[in-house]
Amino acid sequence: MDFQTLYDFSYSLSQYSEDAQDREALLFGIKKSLSIFFKIEDIKIYLLDEFSYLLKDFAKPWENLGQNAQYKEIEKIFDDFLTKKSELKIDKNILYFPISQKNKTLGFLKLISREKINPKNDFFNILPLSAKQISTLCTILKNNEQIKISSKFHQTVRNIAKITETQYELDYILPIIGEMIDGFICEHLIYIFIRSKSKKEYKLIWPSNCSDNKIHEYLEEITPKSKTIIKENGKMGIFPLIINQKPYGAIVAHNHFDKITSKEIEYLEEIQSQAQVTLERAKSYIEVLEYATLDALTGYNNRHQFEKRLKETTSSAKRKNQPLCCIMSDIDFFKKVNDTYGHAVGDCVLKTVAKTIKKELRESDIASRYGGEEFIFLLPQTSLEEAYVVAQRLRKAIENKKINIEEYKIDNVKEISVTISIGVSEFNKSDKMPELLYEHADNALYQAKKSGRNKVVIYNKNN
Ligand code: GH3
Ligand code: MG
Ligand code: MG
Repeated sequence: MDFQTLYDFSYSLSQYSEDAQDREALLFGIKKSLSIFFKIEDIKIYLLDEFSYLLKDFAKPWENLGQNAQYKEIEKIFDDFLTKKSELKIDKNILYFPISQKNKTLGFLKLISREKINPKNDFFNILPLSAKQISTLCTILKNNEQIKISSKFHQTVRNIAKITETQYELDYILPIIGEMIDGFICEHLIYIFIRSKSKKEYKLIWPSNCSDNKIHEYLEEITPKSKTIIKENGKMGIFPLIINQKPYGAIVAHNHFDKITSKEIEYLEEIQSQAQVTLERAKSYIEVLEYATLDALTGYNNRHQFEKRLKETTSSAKRKNQPLCCIMSDIDFFKKVNDTYGHAVGDCVLKTVAKTIKKELRESDIASRYGGEEFIFLLPQTSLEEAYVVAQRLRKAIENKKINIEEYKIDNVKEISVTISIGVSEFNKSDKMPELLYEHADNALYQAKKSGRNKVVIYNKNN
């Protein structure tokens, strides 16, 4: 074999692996490199999963290959490599060789060629070396994944600890915690339940649905002294949230195929204990904040205060027979901001949006944070036409605002921008319920989202 071919192969393999961000990319690189020797139809790598003891497709480790005939065949090839310690197996147009590390067989590579495999192929001269190189690449990628997960986990715990700096309504905190856990535990379904005080049953808080009815049965087992409860042959973990010695709710992780690993349990237990502390803190905040009126992050009125001001302004509008309008805004794709740049940047964006809008309003306008990234504005003595103009001005101000995020040091990103969608409604003085004013604005906001975002929509009762 000429030296150049060997060099090309080895160089190509190391080059591809350096660039590979994920398993599929690495597999693609291995395939490209091996195509120096073979006319490849497809390649697969099967590795033994150390937790489930099942062979898994390296590119799709979350998939269960099932217990069918095909799996039996994969298992048999692996067993042959384990016991016979052979270096390769050729079956017409298919080549198999083991992937191993420190003399331990971890799995094997299956190469499907478009033509019959020639045993005299140059590749076989360097097979031991190449197999070793490929094994190392797979192992390094796996280790890097572990490191990434571990750093994501620490970030999640820190973020959960920080939520109460900006948010104290449990309705908002729990879904945020759910999303954060979901961001790093990718191979399980994560649910968050809360025990309703009146009905004494567990209600799903995050995500919006759960088709697994058995969970409710298991949740009933939680007592004030409960620690982690493992169910479904180790595939489900229930992590109770106990506050002031009372069962308050639970985080549930469920994987339909594999057992939850001890490492994952360790992670989730840490998150559970941090979530408990955060919730406890939020609950005591709420007690204090019954008397507070302003939202800590934006300086706007908080929700309680908004409801009070709504009653005042609607009755004043009625009494004085003056127009009153309501503007409701919601940041577009805000979840993506959090996911891309982290929660701290999300908070900075919220603060900046609030400040930018405030500058555009009159002294008499009432700005409130309705929750999350939704703001609501009451505009006394303002007609619907005028409110529409104001809303467009707010929308443009945000669209043009460059939000400086340099201090967060995220990949040299200096500034970002966001857009908002807006719903506008006018108070109908014959309405008995003041709440209709913001329900109508909310309805219009929904239309603005549905019809493309970064838009202002006026409430129309026919929608
Ligand atoms: P849409 O355009 O449909 O509004 O998309 P969206 O991603 O903005 O969707 P949605 O309004 O449902 O998402 C709101 C997100 O806001 C979810 C939550 O993580 C985030 N969020 C809510 N409150 C806060 C907060 O105080 N700080 C941060 N950083 N994020 C928050
Ligand atoms: Mg939004
Ligand atoms: Mg929203």
